[in-house]
Amino acid sequence: MQYEGPIYRPPSEADSLLIQATVGCPHNRCTFCMVYKNGPPFKIRPVADIIADLNQASESCSPLVTTLFFPAGNTIAMKTEQLSMICRHAHSVFPHLQRITVYGSSQYIHQKGEQELRELAQAGLSRIHVGLESGDDVILQRVCKGTTRQQQIEAGRYVMEAGIELSMYVLLGIGGVERSFEHAQATAFALNAINPTYIRLRTFLPKIHTPMLEDVEAGVFQMLGPHGVLRETREFLTSLDVTSQLTSDHYTNYVNIFGQLPHDTPRMLKELDLALQRAEGSFRPVYIGTQ
Ligand code: SF4
Repeated sequence: MQYEGPIYRPPSEADSLLIQATVGCPHNRCTFCMVYKNGPPFKIRPVADIIADLNQASESCSPLVTTLFFPAGNTIAMKTEQLSMICRHAHSVFPHLQRITVYGSSQYIHQKGEQELRELAQAGLSRIHVGLESGDDVILQRVCKGTTRQQQIEAGRYVMEAGIELSMYVLLGIGGVERSFEHAQATAFALNAINPTYIRLRTFLPKIHTPMLEDVEAGVFQMLGPHGVLRETREFLTSLDVTSQLTSDHYTNYVNIFGQLPHDTPRMLKELDLALQRAEGSFRPVYIGTQ
């Protein structure tokens, strides 16, 4: 099997077969993201090569494969016909396959529209991970996300309407001290309009080779400390009106909270309040540009 460039996958895909359908990210401009800043440039692998990889994997582990993830920044940007073809082929060679997942940014999902997403659902694509990051248009523009809150809402609704599971990532702290409140409020507003299957929390860390690290080092961007992030999380959580599963399964978070919304909201708020009683020095260190 062929792999090129950094291979990233969400923690929930730890047990999945990873087959590369695309390389890099067609956007590659988010100022907080270091993944493909040093290349390789975006490309879509030939369908014949992807099918050859699926066939090779099926020869050695076909009965064991229940979940499949196509890694790289925006595999949803593949032509719908091609992505459908490889999803169908995967289901034909892995008889126990229960889930096929890709990463996709809202602008590429939006370009597809609801009808093409329905075609992908019929072909067996079952989950899309989307970096919402924020619902605040000022922040989205500052971090060069290449989309707007309205477009993210529409794209998210297309996915849900098509019957594909939607996992949306929120980047805590991405508004810094200046826009923490707006970030919490606007992000909850966007998610309330979408009601995705999953909401996943990550916390902003300035990574090497990123414009945001330069802003942090220059003092242009003032990062939230642990208590600031926890207060932002609290504000966000109390503003949510969804039935999503909330997960924060990541090393970047100061505390990880999990629960079914809205049922588990009071418990999660208590956990945040308990964490807020801890001294800031007791949390993970605030890494700045060391990785
Ligand atoms: S769309 Fe995703 S992979 Fe591409 S630059 Fe932005 S965060 Fe990174």
